[in-house]
Amino acid sequence: MSRQLPVRREPAGLLVFSLLLLVFAASLPAQRRGMDEHARSRGVRPDHTIFSPLDLPAPNRFRTASGAPGADYWQQRVDYRIDVTLQPITRTITGKEHVTYYNNSPDPLDYIWVHLEQNVLRKDSIGSLADGTSAMGGPTDHNDGVRVTEVSAAGQNIAHQVYDTMMRVSLPITLVPGKTFECDIAWAFDVPKRVFRRYGTMNVKKGTIWELAQWFPAVAVYDDVHGWNTLPYMGTGEFYTNFGTYELNITAPRDHIVVATGVLQNEEQVYTGVQRERLAQARKSTEPVMIRSKDEVGKLDSRPAGDGPLTWRFHSENVRTVAFASSEAFILDAASVGETLVQSVYAEDSLPVWGKSTAMLCAAIKGYNERLHPYPYPVATNVAGIEGGMEYPMIIFCSGRNKRNERGLYGVTTHEIGHNWFPMMINTDERRHAWMDEGFNTFINMYSTADWFDKNNKPSKPSTYAMMMRMPGVPVVTQADRLNGLQLGLLQYQKTGVGLQLLREHILGAERFDFAFRTYIQRWKFKSPQPADFFRTMEDAAGMDLAWFWRGWFLEDALLDQAIDGVRVSSRGARITFLNKERMVMPVTFEVEYEDGTKEIQRLPVQVWFKSDKVVHLVKSDKTIVSVRLDPERMLPDNKRGNNRWKAEQ
Ligand SMILES: [Zn+2]
Repeated sequence: MSRQLPVRREPAGLLVFSLLLLVFAASLPAQRRGMDEHARSRGVRPDHTIFSPLDLPAPNRFRTASGAPGADYWQQRVDYRIDVTLQPITRTITGKEHVTYYNNSPDPLDYIWVHLEQNVLRKDSIGSLADGTSAMGGPTDHNDGVRVTEVSAAGQNIAHQVYDTMMRVSLPITLVPGKTFECDIAWAFDVPKRVFRRYGTMNVKKGTIWELAQWFPAVAVYDDVHGWNTLPYMGTGEFYTNFGTYELNITAPRDHIVVATGVLQNEEQVYTGVQRERLAQARKSTEPVMIRSKDEVGKLDSRPAGDGPLTWRFHSENVRTVAFASSEAFILDAASVGETLVQSVYAEDSLPVWGKSTAMLCAAIKGYNERLHPYPYPVATNVAGIEGGMEYPMIIFCSGRNKRNERGLYGVTTHEIGHNWFPMMINTDERRHAWMDEGFNTFINMYSTADWFDKNNKPSKPSTYAMMMRMPGVPVVTQADRLNGLQLGLLQYQKTGVGLQLLREHILGAERFDFAFRTYIQRWKFKSPQPADFFRTMEDAAGMDLAWFWRGWFLEDALLDQAIDGVRVSSRGARITFLNKERMVMPVTFEVEYEDGTKEIQRLPVQVWFKSDKVVHLVKSDKTIVSVRLDPERMLPDNKRGNNRWKAEQ
């Protein structure tokens, strides 16, 4: 999901919330400060439990103590063959799917759980009721949700029960480990004119753009940590799904261009000869090639001759869901990055900025390929539509209302395609651990954005984000549906992103961090890590105990305040007293300035805070020190910078 949305949506709420924060921030740490003063007088840190080992789940045969998948790691697999018809006049989606469920678990199963996410549109859904008057985060037309018309196996109807956005399907016979179960599900739902997020329609000059996501009955995840993952779809928390192979056949009006997750299998039936030639050219070109231009939109000869709707066939492997978009108004251009076909579809209404979309998408993919891991799919498509920013395997939805804002379009494009690494490839549970995809993605976006805007690869400074730590009682590791928009944006996107940035730039260093982070990707690609697997892998591969960092930054709401208590200058140098005045700890970086105007930066490891929150450090020098400054490059989210400086009296 787009990181811009949550923060922008509630300007009034932001003000009220900021005021509340000030009140809380003033009262809570005050008690702790009192304790600190008392203990400090005895020269002992009152509470250094921030360094204690983390209370993580016990390692087992599925997930090891090093953070890697264990020898017996398993995950379920679900394959789908889906036939779906889009009927724009009635706004109906009608589908039939054949599901093959592979039980790779060691457990016998008597039922499976299936997501019916469009039931969130019902007035009586948990999501609607829990959200109350805020109407699910935006104007939404409620409806009756999903009409399930058939659930059958081998031609026999099978029992199923729907509870809100979840459906339990009873299995005719127990599904033992190593066996598969096949069933057929038929369903339909109507696309409301106004939908709160993730999909819907946008009217443009020459037609309507349809974006469809979360649109088919999808089998829930059964895993070694939670068993069946049956958290309902409430709107904010996103998705946790199974990998599988999809045959997706989309029938749409003949004048539509359709794009979807997957490789198009029947180009000759759905594109004209000229368009196929241009596509062949795009497959060899790093520069965008126009496949269907603005002037060709609406022209009869820009679509294959004939009558009736056309069926577009897509095939995809190792994907955790599928989405698609369809419109008679689409301009289409394409280029290539390596073996990946990169495309954009947009209406002329979204020009001029969307004319740069394909180049942006190519740049973003290239950057992630080099830094993280090669893009794992053969296609990447950017769609300009009603959705402000949402990610699916091989296809992303970015705001088509943006006509001019290049920073905005690059920001949302690199973010949504970045999700193809987290969580499309590293398949985390977005509903429970949104920070593991939104925040990791926000982190990689920083470097990608610096690439495009040529900012010498310098990411933003974490110090500017100190305010995001001021969320008393709300740690990063909070389930997304329990957070308001501001908390979601600040904690799960920004604080997590900045946390990884701190870890790379300030704590581990680039080489050490990058090795560990790539190790995490290598270990868990096309698998499902839990938070403990990430913490353990980073410590294992970086070779550093980071319990204090995970605890302070992710598991708790700790604040950071490093201070200079005093400096005693002598002929041999200076004795500097540093204080750590809050619970969060960090390495100490300080700059000393000498009377001849020269400066020197020195660093102390985080372990200086092991025994006390007061550290006396001797800087030896023949030259007289005239000033000392903590965190001179403003790397740290220090909540009080006023106590970071000492200056000799003149
Ligand atoms: Zn996102």
